[in-house]
Amino acid sequence: MPVLQRKTNHWNKISLVTLLTGLVSMSVALTVTILLISSYQSKKQALINTTLTLNHTSALKMSHTIDSLIKSMRSSLRYSSNLFSKPLSAAEGYSKLELIRHTNNYFNSITVVDETGLVRYVSPESIGTVGQHITTETAKTALALKKPYISKPYVTASTNRLIVFISEPIFEENGNYRGFIAGTIYLHENNILNTIFGSNPTDELDSSFYIVGSDGHLLYHRDTNRIGEDISENQAVRKLIQGKSGYEQMVNLRGETVLSAYVKVPENGWGVVAVSPISAVYEQLNRHLASILLYMLPPFLLLMLVVIWLARRVARPFVSLADLVSKAGREEVELAEGKQHWNREAELLTRAIRYAFSDMKKQTDQLAHDARTDPLTGLTNRRTLEETLQQWMEEPISFSVIMMDLDHFKSINDTYGHQSGDEVLKHFAQIVSASLRSGDVCCRFGGEEFVALISHADAKEAYQVAERIRHTLETSPNPIGQPITVSQGIAHYPSHTDSAEDLLHLADEALYNAKRSGRNRTEIAEG
Ligand code: GH3
Ligand code: MG
Ligand code: MG
Repeated sequence: MPVLQRKTNHWNKISLVTLLTGLVSMSVALTVTILLISSYQSKKQALINTTLTLNHTSALKMSHTIDSLIKSMRSSLRYSSNLFSKPLSAAEGYSKLELIRHTNNYFNSITVVDETGLVRYVSPESIGTVGQHITTETAKTALALKKPYISKPYVTASTNRLIVFISEPIFEENGNYRGFIAGTIYLHENNILNTIFGSNPTDELDSSFYIVGSDGHLLYHRDTNRIGEDISENQAVRKLIQGKSGYEQMVNLRGETVLSAYVKVPENGWGVVAVSPISAVYEQLNRHLASILLYMLPPFLLLMLVVIWLARRVARPFVSLADLVSKAGREEVELAEGKQHWNREAELLTRAIRYAFSDMKKQTDQLAHDARTDPLTGLTNRRTLEETLQQWMEEPISFSVIMMDLDHFKSINDTYGHQSGDEVLKHFAQIVSASLRSGDVCCRFGGEEFVALISHADAKEAYQVAERIRHTLETSPNPIGQPITVSQGIAHYPSHTDSAEDLLHLADEALYNAKRSGRNRTEIAEG
């Protein structure tokens, strides 16, 4: 597990994956919202306009149908009125009415009333008003008018039905008024209106229509219970009563917003209203929006997957670099050379870290080197000596220690100066280094004291090395131009002792013996 991820406090920072996913989600959500709102607005207006136009078209068509129907009814009655201009027997009159009623099927019943208001013939016979006088104001008006007449809806006294009737006056050839012939439509029963219009299927906009009389009473409605109801307060009906046709959004009597188209029937002053509730438009809109969302979902999910994958790829080099850097110093870390990142920033960072690492390594190496080296002579220092001693004793190998101390060095310093003293120290270090084999170690032990470790050498062999050094020093040219000498003491591991401390102590003792015996000589430890 990467080192960084183990530290839980890193988790409250936003990760690249979260950031990118969030950004993309936000921009997609924003785009979708704008798209939906604009689509919603334009689609809404388009749907409203289309619905109004459709309603207007169907209202116009129905108005034409009703117009021709009324014309046909009238011409049928006008033609029939001629048949009754001469007196007929009851049976003859009845059979003629039956024939008319059954051939055109326009009316639920047909009645012939004479100029005195007496009902002469009725089809169907079952109505049973033959021989009675008309009682309703509407019938009396029609009789008095002596003109074609269309009644308002009213309830008959004899049969208690809601009806409208259409009448034509009857005149003799010489022009004498002989009453009228009237065809009735039973509004609450099967009639010509619901035969023609009742089969209209409702569409997805839930459109419906109704027919109103010139006074605003319902003549046809798909809810038959409402037929006969006075809806003259309805905005569309009010316009119809004012003689207007058109279409618009309005509020109906139940407070619902509807899209109404209203068209007057020219022949008789009736009106047709085609309406759709606005809620149907909203339902369509919602379906439209849902389908847009549904279409957008798969590409959006795909986009999210791509973004997450991409964000992980972008984040990966940074995470591994951070992990690597956090390990640096604790363990050896390696930055794979030559591995290029496709991401520019990651590549720049990797390169910068690689340079930083190599600088760091150089500095560390330098520090490590400095920590083990004597700056004046370039020899190793006491720490290296102790480590080497430890190491060789652990292995173990046989070796000898030569402890060296320049003679009368204090007087060299005093006579030639401290700087010349330093030069003498360097000169001696070079002689010692040149006299040793590659496996041997020489260190500056302190001041003008040096210690050499000669591997795989007994005291005698070490003695020869020491003597060679002493001789070279004594005879070779040096910085002060006066002979310089050195005294040396030797101890051997393990023949003299197997303790590092004692070994150095023994060599020091041997050195002390050499000094005491007159200097410029080499002594081997006793024992
Ligand atoms: P002996 O023959 O008994 O060894 O006499 P000596 O004068 O060499 O011994 P002593 O220990 O009295 O003097 C050592 C001198 O070495 C004293 C000190 O000033 C000098 N010295 C120690 N370190 C350095 C150094 O780094 N550079 C110089 N120039 N002199 C140093
Ligand atoms: Mg000394
Ligand atoms: Mg000395």
